Amino acid sequence: MNVEEGVLLSRFTTVGIGGPARAFARPETLAQLEEALGWAAKRELPVATIGLGSNLLVADEGFDGLVLKLAGELAQAEAGGERLVAGGGAANAVCLHRARAAGLGGFEFACAIPGTVGGGVWMNAGAYGSDWAAVLERALVVDGEGSRWLDPAELGLTYRHSELRHGQVVARAEFRLTPRPEEEIRATVADLQALRKAAQPTNKRTFGSVFQNPEHELTAGRMLEACGLKGHRIGGAQISPRHANFIENADTARAADAVALMAEARRRASEQFGVGLQHEVVFLGPLELP
Ligand SMILES: Cc1cc2nc3c(=O)[nH]c(=O)nc-3n(C[C@H](O)[C@H](O)[C@H](O)COP(=O)(O)OP(=O)(O)OC[C@H]3O[C@@H](n4cnc5c(N)ncnc54)[C@H](O)[C@@H]3O)c2cc1C
Repeated sequence: MNVEEGVLLSRFTTVGIGGPARAFARPETLAQLEEALGWAAKRELPVATIGLGSNLLVADEGFDGLVLKLAGELAQAEAGGERLVAGGGAANAVCLHRARAAGLGGFEFACAIPGTVGGGVWMNAGAYGSDWAAVLERALVVDGEGSRWLDPAELGLTYRHSELRHGQVVARAEFRLTPRPEEEIRATVADLQALRKAAQPTNKRTFGSVFQNPEHELTAGRMLEACGLKGHRIGGAQISPRHANFIENADTARAADAVALMAEARRRASEQFGVGLQHEVVFLGPLELP
């Protein structure tokens, strides 16, 4: 297994922000994944897995550990017999394609989520009334101690949350789907994509929703809009003029710019609504929200 040094993580995040990883590897098999975890353990380095980087804010200083990007058979997907079986690094778009070709429905909601199977497990990704927990049967989680299959309850999947921690890698997952004609799947996906296009910034560099929706009559986006934050800019990062729960990399933004915007958003939501917004985006490296 080849370990690269100093790979810039901005190349692997949808927002295009992030410094270097001390070490970077692309395991293609379970054996290579175990080898990579052993390599890091021997050097006492922390490990983090990166999917499509669509929910990730990486520090400008980077990550002082080993970053894994699953490839090869750990990034492939197959569907048949009412099941979708995928590697943790398989893109949701590929999974949806395989499910549709096999005449299996239930994964259509993921058409709006530009991530991977493993990233979806990590935060119980969801949209349009469904989520990973609704279709996931079990996931193979590998860490320094070995590997085990866990079901949604054992993974602790709740709203945009799992109990997974960095260093635990989702290597494979199995989903339970239901037979549905290909044309119906296509039609549902087209409808969901049109809804998404009408509501959120598209073709912009973002990391998806910044904050979780609070227990409040307003969503995080509506709350931040009411705080007058649409279009607010710090450095190269700006709150989307289209949807206030998105931060765009408008012009060579740094992680520090995005964090400063998040801190300002939290401050205003607390002042105006008495709500403590919790961030949905995952931080990697030395980043902290004041
Ligand atoms: C335009 C846009 C729209 C979005 N819309 C939605 C939406 O509607 N609903 C929604 O839920 N999310 C949405 N997101 C956020 C994001 O796409 C999801 O959270 C997605 O599941 C993240 O997957 P990823 O592979 O990109 O993970 P990454 O961003 O690469 O990583 C996120 C977390 O998952 C961990 N991780 C990734 N892969 C693995 C693995 N194999 N094993 C263990 N841990 C892993 C990482 O370590 C990190 O902690 C959106 C993002 C964007 C940019």
